[in-house]
Amino acid sequence: MSDTLRVAGGAVLHPDFTVSDGDVLVDRDAGEIIAVGDTPAGDETVDAAGCLVMPGLVNAHCHVAMTLLRGYADDKQLDAWLQEDIWPAEAELADGDIRAGARLGLVEMIRAGTTAFADMYFEVPEVVDAITEAGLRARVGHGVVTVGKDDADAVADNEEALSVAREFNDAADGRITSAYMPHSLTTVGEEYLREFVAAAREADVPVHFHANETEQEVEPIVDEHGSRPLEYAADVGLLAEDDFLAHGVHTTAGEIELLAESGASVVHCPASNMKLASGMAPVQAMREAGVTVALGTDGAASNNDLDVFDELRDAAMLGKLQTGAADAVPARAAVEMATAGGAAALGFDSGRIEVGANADLAVVDFDVPHLTPVHDHVSHLAYAATGQDVRHTICDGEVLMRDREVLPFDEAAVREQAAQRASELAARAGE
Ligand SMILES: [Zn+2]
Repeated sequence: MSDTLRVAGGAVLHPDFTVSDGDVLVDRDAGEIIAVGDTPAGDETVDAAGCLVMPGLVNAHCHVAMTLLRGYADDKQLDAWLQEDIWPAEAELADGDIRAGARLGLVEMIRAGTTAFADMYFEVPEVVDAITEAGLRARVGHGVVTVGKDDADAVADNEEALSVAREFNDAADGRITSAYMPHSLTTVGEEYLREFVAAAREADVPVHFHANETEQEVEPIVDEHGSRPLEYAADVGLLAEDDFLAHGVHTTAGEIELLAESGASVVHCPASNMKLASGMAPVQAMREAGVTVALGTDGAASNNDLDVFDELRDAAMLGKLQTGAADAVPARAAVEMATAGGAAALGFDSGRIEVGANADLAVVDFDVPHLTPVHDHVSHLAYAATGQDVRHTICDGEVLMRDREVLPFDEAAVREQAAQRASELAARAGE
């Protein structure tokens, strides 16, 4: 007999965005949903009375350990922010800092109902250890930068990214997968992209990178190669079907067509794009063209939190501002991007409440003033709910937060350790 968990007494958000009262029964051993609606009792029960049971949210672009730099430098353009503040601080990261920052970010994500994410950073084994402890699902990789490095260092950085991708492409009982992650089309040289993207194909891992984030990033590619960034990306071997890129803010109609034909996904990061004044991604046009669009918070230094509910609202709002049409990026589109879209981009069988899907769930408490009355649950998810409304979080059939208590970690200790390390890091960076 399998070990079952019943999420009981709530309303359930179905893949077609209808909502009905019912339970969700989960096989904890398989980590799968085995019944929805009228289900038999489980070995254990999670109370969902007054709640909406929805698929766990997917944060498809993140640098989770950057929680240590939350609020460290704000109100600057991307170039200056990276070069004057973020990269010098990251150069001072000490052993154990990344693990501490990752644990803080993981607690924050569990609290906000996020069950899967993609992470690009350094010291990936430390991040993987923290994710394994947390019980979340993730696609991880080592962010490669070759600008400013000699050839030996550039090759070593790429080789580390590949070896990490090979090592962790089915870790933590399959909850952790990997990707080769060149930082961007301008921070990794063409010769390295050509060589190591091909190597990633041989290793059977997808590629994740930042692209078309700012105008300043687009111009040098157009000047040097005479082509748009995503045309250049396709030319060096990127944009395979499983690849996913972050931002895609400054994309032309031709590039959107290229994305749609290739099957590569875009991770829209509206808060980061607004905060760094990067611009407004043409999300509505991408969706109309058939491009898979997911949502990401980006790092906590450019957001400044990891709450995907904020991205839901930002994506819906910004989509209207970008097009001048109030029906662009409607509530359902935003919720779809944060759930099924994210799961598709990261290659997880999650993001929907259906028999056979991964048992990755967020249980949102609707018994609160700001979610009353309920004319439309999906509207509330997009426009009124926040991560703090999440009552229980379940990933791979395991309860990671019950009644707002995060179970895998001692939350107070995680916060204290991260705060201590962050202040020491800031002191070193300021010397
Ligand atoms: Zn990023």
